[in-house]
Amino acid sequence: MSSVDLGIPLAVRAELAVRGVRTITAVRRGPGAGPSDDGHLVVDGGNLALPIDPGSPYILRDGRIFEDDLILEDGLILKDGRAGERDLGIVAEPVTRPRFYDLSTADGVPYRQIALLHGADVLASTVVQTCIRYAERERCRFCAIEESLRAGSTVAAKTPEHLAEVAAAAHRLDGVRQMVLTTGTTAGPDRGARHLARCVRAVRAAVPGLPIQVQIEPPGDLSSIDELHAAGASAIGIHVESLDEAARRSWMPGKGSVPMAEYEAAWDRAVAVFGRNRVSTYLLIGLGEDPDELVAGAAGLIGRGVYPFVVPLRVLPGTLADRDGARGPDPAVVADVTGRVGALLRDAGMSGADQGAGCAACGACSALPAAGG
Ligand code: SF4
Repeated sequence: MSSVDLGIPLAVRAELAVRGVRTITAVRRGPGAGPSDDGHLVVDGGNLALPIDPGSPYILRDGRIFEDDLILEDGLILKDGRAGERDLGIVAEPVTRPRFYDLSTADGVPYRQIALLHGADVLASTVVQTCIRYAERERCRFCAIEESLRAGSTVAAKTPEHLAEVAAAAHRLDGVRQMVLTTGTTAGPDRGARHLARCVRAVRAAVPGLPIQVQIEPPGDLSSIDELHAAGASAIGIHVESLDEAARRSWMPGKGSVPMAEYEAAWDRAVAVFGRNRVSTYLLIGLGEDPDELVAGAAGLIGRGVYPFVVPLRVLPGTLADRDGARGPDPAVVADVTGRVGALLRDAGMSGADQGAGCAACGACSALPAAGG
């Protein structure tokens, strides 16, 4: 199940992306690496990841999404407005709990602590759950990578053998069709890429043909990118999160200190090795950037063969952003920016599905599939 247009109008998709839904989903990411903490749904054959928010004006009920006039005060429901609800015409089913979640390794590690199901068919793991940038003055303000470790819901470092075992089970029992491997930044010059390459080799040996996307910071030694490709990764994400220097400094004091020239060199090497539209980067909407500049930056990325995966900022529990009272972006801005980036991608003939693996191929966290991206 790859990135497909779910038939949801872009304005509605952007509203849902920012305001989320009220529901109980069987498959839900807890706070962890990166910007997403969502419940997973299947809509019209595609994956949809939405924030689960008990204060959302949208509700998933009886397999459909409704807008109602729920009134909240101090988190308490004062009025459940079924009488005034509006059917958005979206047929959605929560992703069911996968069977591999019931298994453990021979040495007693639950598979669920090694990798998680995203959407209906994406297996995802953060292979190193710690980050050298997690001190408060360095940490990305939207990231909660070490919180899930503290909560005991994952293990600090996943071995290649464990990942291969879980991938084989998830493929066999639950029909997983692609895998995403990300990592917290490690201290070595490869920024964690070498361990990722070992993990990719092990998974590919266990499940030949399973497309895998790897996600890294620009490695100091660009040959790590070649090694990841040689190991069998089919796509790579090198995530800058923002092209706005002020946003980079304020939202990502540690990672934002990596010069843009290093990102550009890494993207170019990755496009040379993996191919055009096999390389992607996250661009977050809502870090205070100018929307026109964001779209112009996305156009520049598309020109160099890099897919800009535009996603609204999600303020996760346990992050510095949450502590400081940050809010998500205006849904109208999300719709505007996503629509314009989607049009640029269409003009360039770049579709997320063509990445084969990774977030652009999955598409669940972005409104881009609703914009033709
Ligand atoms: S877009 Fe990426 S983070 Fe979101 S559900 Fe898909 S694979 Fe997971």
